[in-house]
Amino acid sequence: MSKTKIDYARFIFFIFDQATIDLFASKAPTISAFQSFETFLLLSALGRHPQALVTLCSAIESASAASTGRKITDSSEGGLARAWEVLNEVIPRDFHLPTNPTRKQLREKRNDVTHFGFSNKDDHDCAFYSLGLGVPLFAGWAMGQYGINLYESCGNFGRLLKTTVEVIHDSKTNRITALDASSILRRWITFHLRESFMADWEIEVLDADRSTFGTSPVSGIEIREQQLKNLQDTEPHALIDCPICDEFDSMFIALNEKALFEDKKLLPDFGQCKHCDVIFPPKLSPILRELCKPSLTAELTISTCKGYGVGAD
Ligand SMILES: [Zn+2]
Repeated sequence: MSKTKIDYARFIFFIFDQATIDLFASKAPTISAFQSFETFLLLSALGRHPQALVTLCSAIESASAASTGRKITDSSEGGLARAWEVLNEVIPRDFHLPTNPTRKQLREKRNDVTHFGFSNKDDHDCAFYSLGLGVPLFAGWAMGQYGINLYESCGNFGRLLKTTVEVIHDSKTNRITALDASSILRRWITFHLRESFMADWEIEVLDADRSTFGTSPVSGIEIREQQLKNLQDTEPHALIDCPICDEFDSMFIALNEKALFEDKKLLPDFGQCKHCDVIFPPKLSPILRELCKPSLTAELTISTCKGYGVGAD
């Protein structure tokens, strides 16, 4: 039983050309590995972190099986341990892999969840082990086996995923927990996949409401309008394209005063989009700053400084 090419080309996040998909199809179960990885992302977006971790471990096992051509017959602890021996061979030596969390922690958590289920208490560890180690392992495998940059293979989302993985390891930003960081991933996923969760008319009504947001004489979403008013009272601020929904000039960013007035630099402390509603509270500002970089252009810096009378001398 073999599948046709078109049967294989079902991805949600990944964008692969046909030649790459054909290559994957010749090395089973590569396609399944990438699809399990996508299911891991979906479960994470639903806040189902423990089972997201189990699914990510399955993706890793499929990945190692694709490298060896071996069938996966063992999904127990031994299976995952063997998968990692394979990954040690496949992942390039110069590919950075975190040492915290450890593979042992990831493996034991997977076994715990598989055998005994989970509670809300497991959410934090599961999100940390998945984003902190599982995702880099899978990325290392994709690089070693196919020369593919995992993060660059899923468009704008990849940049967000890479930033999320990096900030939770950054000692300067260690107040960002994996759960907090994954809340932004969740926002991206639920916004871009909203067609899967809502009726057409619901999306139309919401989009119409958003487009007249703050200017409509009809009282629509009053709480949100008040929030926008509050934002506009915050100074200094700027508007940029939203890095989550890509809407033009829809992201309000509150700027760091010292950076603006003393260094003439745009340094966002807080961000909120009036289109997709994503909110970056101050504790998530390292993610916001990284994602905003392409929008914080020299032109915007000059016009913002001018607007606030900075550097007029
Ligand atoms: Zn947005």
